[in-house]
Amino acid sequence: MISVKNLYKSFGSHQVLNDINEHIAPGEKIVIIGPSGSGKSTFLRCMNLLERPTSGQVIFDGIDITDPKTDINKVRQHMGMVFQHFNLFPHKTIMENITLAPVRLKLMKPEEAKEEALRLLKLVNLEEKADAYPGQLSGGQKQRIAIVRSLAMKPKMMLFDEPTSALDPEMVGEVLEVMKNLADQGMTMAVVTHEMGFAKEVGTRVMFMDEGRILEQGTPEDIFDNPKEARTQEFLSKVL
Ligand code: ADP
Ligand code: MG
Repeated sequence: MISVKNLYKSFGSHQVLNDINEHIAPGEKIVIIGPSGSGKSTFLRCMNLLERPTSGQVIFDGIDITDPKTDINKVRQHMGMVFQHFNLFPHKTIMENITLAPVRLKLMKPEEAKEEALRLLKLVNLEEKADAYPGQLSGGQKQRIAIVRSLAMKPKMMLFDEPTSALDPEMVGEVLEVMKNLADQGMTMAVVTHEMGFAKEVGTRVMFMDEGRILEQGTPEDIFDNPKEARTQEFLSKVL
């Protein structure tokens, strides 16, 4: 689904990603963990070119998205991204938030997009919020809507950057539940999170990032029960 080759990213003289080489196969659920500032968000954002790599290649679904000739907006339609802050349009209803992009990009007719939005809203138990505005929703509900909005584009892969970090604790579970269901349906996912329970339960592969590199990776059992690197052990001893 995605191949990253010799990926480097610097901000000025600050090297943030240092020669990352990775393949993510269709259906994998990659969980990325690591200390603050280790480059997790930058890695994720390079995968859909929200950050342009300083050098290296990102191949998504057979297309070199780092090639300047590639129409990145077109490719991005197939990669959903959910952030810590939901970025919903405050002056549009939930229904409008969900249907805006697919209709504007002419992927669906308005009626079709509405139908699909209602189907997705049902899946996250928020169909009664279709005509509400984001300000009328809780943080957990807004994040479930943000996920639905991404799914309305029928993405081939979903990227999540700490989707539950800004939520009150009692709302974390409902968002993780939606993500678990998505995983069960076979979605290819890359998730940056501090939710180690989710990582163990849903992750097919866990990557530990440190200082711009993937220092260690493996199954959840490898990483959580048998970490090899001292930095991984130290990190886990603080978060588990
Ligand atoms: P993480 O998500 O693991 O906390 P980030 O990828 O956000 O780490 O950041 C890695 C490093 O890159 C940090 O030192 C951060 O300050 C720096 N950084 C991230 N984005 C920018 C930017 N747009 N401009 C300058 N520095 C940045
Ligand atoms: Mg981050």
